[in-house]
Amino acid sequence: MSLYKKRLKLVKGEGVYVWDENGNKYLDAIAGIGVAILGHSNEELASAINEQMKKLVVAGPMFHHEEKDEALEELSRFLSFEYAYFGNSGTEAVEAALKFARLYTGKKEIIAMTKAFHGRTFGSLSATWKKKYREGFEPLVPGFKHIPFNNVEAAKDAITKETAAVIVEPIQGEGGIIPAKAEFIKTLRDLTQDNGALLIVDEVQSAFRSGKFLAIEHYKIQPDIVTMGKGLANGIPIGLTLTNFDVPRGKHGSTFGGNPLACKAMETTLKILRREKLIEKAEEKSISIEGDKVIMTRGKGLMLGILLKENAGKYVEKLQERGLLVNTAGNKVIRLLPPLIITKEQMLWVKETIEGVLNG
Ligand SMILES: *Cc1c(COP(=O)(O)O)cnc(C)c1O
Repeated sequence: MSLYKKRLKLVKGEGVYVWDENGNKYLDAIAGIGVAILGHSNEELASAINEQMKKLVVAGPMFHHEEKDEALEELSRFLSFEYAYFGNSGTEAVEAALKFARLYTGKKEIIAMTKAFHGRTFGSLSATWKKKYREGFEPLVPGFKHIPFNNVEAAKDAITKETAAVIVEPIQGEGGIIPAKAEFIKTLRDLTQDNGALLIVDEVQSAFRSGKFLAIEHYKIQPDIVTMGKGLANGIPIGLTLTNFDVPRGKHGSTFGGNPLACKAMETTLKILRREKLIEKAEEKSISIEGDKVIMTRGKGLMLGILLKENAGKYVEKLQERGLLVNTAGNKVIRLLPPLIITKEQMLWVKETIEGVLNG
């Protein structure tokens, strides 16, 4: 347990704030790595989950229940896909997407991007780029290759009739909050289509935050498979894989996936998002950080990365001392994934605090 000794121990949360064991208050601008989109301890969500606990907690994948219908109906107000497969995490959503792509196309090759992050189970890990996450776990799943992110020519060379799927984050998260270029996404869409391959868009981190429900909506293309997780049920574990083709019954499944409790949490989370227009408001609350140590602020809306000229790690600790929780994405990027309920004033305080620490 000594591993965790030095870490900040959080004991409660309310709205955009969390408290540690010594009663210190922090503005949580990372929200459990982009999970608590409605903030902490949302009362409406808490009571919905509470009621659900007393009504029906589990049904099992062989039964149907109204909470699933209601969650999917709420989802359909934001986007339209024909089929939805539930899991319990982002990596499971990606595993399902990769399996479905091979099943549907009858092909094996999966193309992923440099700096990509898709999760830590074997399939997702095989699509993930970073050596540190892969090392020691080889052999990974065969059939995966990586091409340079945002490089149109490399995509043209790599995508062939052998390709089953291309997987991409519209805004790379873990890799450093790097938005995909429009021309790159368009190339991936055109070439997958021409070669009988599927385009998988991993929205586990980028959903809800960019000013659109899915970040891929900015690119005006239709992906074949979308994966979601993180904020979808505001902290209740969930993963979701969306397709427009059916997968034979029994080919894929999950004991906990799509349970009534998670579905209720998802439905309630989406209902609040819609009612409070939190997605529409994300862009006007965005900030940009200025200063000598800053190369640029990138990302969109409330998914932001501050690219520094130096390592970002030490600033995470300094910001914590000033009551602001953030984390890094790659070595030189400070990552902000605040709750979407944050106010413009609070975001301006975040800006001031970061600039104060960087320039002080
Ligand atoms: C976090 C993340 C995952 C993995 O999600 P887990 O819930 O940690 O398994 C997959 N893809 C992206 C883009 C992510 O940011």
